[in-house]
Amino acid sequence: MASSNQSRLDGIKQEILDNKVCPELASSATQLVFGDGNPEAELVFIGEAPGKNEDLQGKPFVGAAGKFLNEMLEMIGLGREDVYITNIVKYRPPNNRDPLPEEKSAFLPYLESQLEVIKPKLTITLGRHSLNCFLPDLKIGQVHGQPKRFRGRVYLPLFHPAAALYNGAMRQTLIDDFALIPAILKKITINN
Ligand code: URA
Repeated sequence: MASSNQSRLDGIKQEILDNKVCPELASSATQLVFGDGNPEAELVFIGEAPGKNEDLQGKPFVGAAGKFLNEMLEMIGLGREDVYITNIVKYRPPNNRDPLPEEKSAFLPYLESQLEVIKPKLTITLGRHSLNCFLPDLKIGQVHGQPKRFRGRVYLPLFHPAAALYNGAMRQTLIDDFALIPAILKKITINN
């Protein structure tokens, strides 16, 4: 039986469709890529927007960046089924261009609703677009790997796995930051 969180998430997905959010993006995309994973997760990862593979499969982070994300999850003893993964923008932007500010703002209320349902202990932003949706004044280069408490949520800004994939130094930094997650989670549990 679907959990009540899952059915509430299904409702948010339906709202995006009913409200015809970003109709132009929707018309050039194959399908909506809403989110995937455990609706009761303690960890939620938020990327930017679906790429080609995600658009075809209807799931976030299933291409090269997703494979790297899966490897880092495994390094800390977790699998995809333990966490929830989504993006700010839920349709693939044409030619993988950056999401536009108005596209990010159009999807933000739905992302907020997803977080309100799941209530993760830790919200992990992947890349600057995701970080700046929640914490607009912070610079990813300065705050990556540092948990930030803001309006009742704890965020952990990380570099985007796609950016780090082929950049040796950034790749190692991302792996090192990722390794901090279990201790950060533990600390949040103790402080709550
Ligand atoms: N990059 C993202 O930001 N999200 C995906 O789902 C895939 C790649």
